[in-house]
Amino acid sequence: MAVDVEKNKKQDNTLDATLNSIRQAVEMGDLSYEVYEYLKTPMRFVEVGVPVEMQDGRMEVFTGYRCQHNNVFGPYKGGIRFHPAVTIDSIKALSMWMTLKCSLVGVPFGGAKGAIVVDSTKMTIKERERMTRSYVRALGSVLGPETDIPAPDVFTDAQVMAWIADEYSDIMREPSFGVVTGKPLAVGGCVGRNEATGRGCFFIGREAAKALDIPLEDARVAVQGFGNVGSNAAILFAEVGCPVIAVSDVSGGLYNKNGIDIFKLLDHVEKTGFVKGFEDAEEITNEELLTIDCDILIPAALENQINSGNADQVKAKIVIEGANGPTTPEADQVLKDKGILVVPDILANSGGVTVSYFEWVQNNYGFRWDLETVNRRLEEKMTEAFKMVYKYYCEKCVGSDMRTGAYMYSTQRLAEAMHYRGWLSNGTHRK
Ligand code: GLU
Repeated sequence: MAVDVEKNKKQDNTLDATLNSIRQAVEMGDLSYEVYEYLKTPMRFVEVGVPVEMQDGRMEVFTGYRCQHNNVFGPYKGGIRFHPAVTIDSIKALSMWMTLKCSLVGVPFGGAKGAIVVDSTKMTIKERERMTRSYVRALGSVLGPETDIPAPDVFTDAQVMAWIADEYSDIMREPSFGVVTGKPLAVGGCVGRNEATGRGCFFIGREAAKALDIPLEDARVAVQGFGNVGSNAAILFAEVGCPVIAVSDVSGGLYNKNGIDIFKLLDHVEKTGFVKGFEDAEEITNEELLTIDCDILIPAALENQINSGNADQVKAKIVIEGANGPTTPEADQVLKDKGILVVPDILANSGGVTVSYFEWVQNNYGFRWDLETVNRRLEEKMTEAFKMVYKYYCEKCVGSDMRTGAYMYSTQRLAEAMHYRGWLSNGTHRK
């Protein structure tokens, strides 16, 4: 699907919306205004030129960013995306979500995000490799296993992470694989990291259904996006017997009221690359998928998918935000008024960074955990995080939504760490 870069850039108000949510959380939580002062501006924002020798011998210089938002809890942490519609503001907002996410789920990292403004899908693999290495050289010691640890994000994967680990190790003149997570297993990756975000969404969906007294095995699930996050979440819901009645990807959507055979669909996608053309389901559009009659809706594709144009038609009882920022603030309000429980991205998709943390711990120890250990620890972390945030939301955010509850819970933990590190002049709360 072609990306309308200019339109995306014009519509990009994620930073303002994020700052509003943080300010509101600080105010509602009665936290010191200094907490907002720290969170409103990234601690460091780096812009670099990324020269790349292209296949035809020309040099092209791309723009790269790394935003290090806040490190009160530990090294900066967050993905690197290759995308033509990336803006400075969107990277800042994404880095803020990482800070909030790490705080919420209790992993000892700060928040960061990086990007190269490029359509890397049009590049050869060698061009992509040279670009990745050039970006790492440009950033140099901005990164580091105790400083700032990147991970996969939109259009970056384990191979890109391996190039980052290799280039950084060359610069440091020693193997230093803990500089990045989401690596292939052969170079210090962690079993289960690839599936972790989708698996985390499943645990969160399960807990949310429990909280609303919806029997999980009867819950009808719809998943927008059949990439890494969406497909892994769909598999897990299907495995416990939930009818996954709708899925979609860039080629369009599928609907079967009795449930789609996810395993057959995975075979079909492996052969054809897309969900389109799968036989045992009706074709629907991505737009129709979002408004389908279901219990759990998982937007796991792009930003701003549930917006003022379709929010009033959403019929799900629970929305689990697998993607970062799939619901606009206007849509949030509409979903809240309709009584739909929206589990916000900073909680719902935090399984990825949680297993990134496990990977980093194993790299530091030089020791490997097995898949069962990784999945069990992920389940414990996600279940605990859901319960804490849900309880906090029910007790402290009457009349508000779970996103507000999550932001309040997260900023409160950040305030506590800021206080103990001596960053606040007069305690965590307003006097
Ligand atoms: N890019 C993922 C996210 O947005 C993972 C980040 C990480 O593992 O550091 O949460």
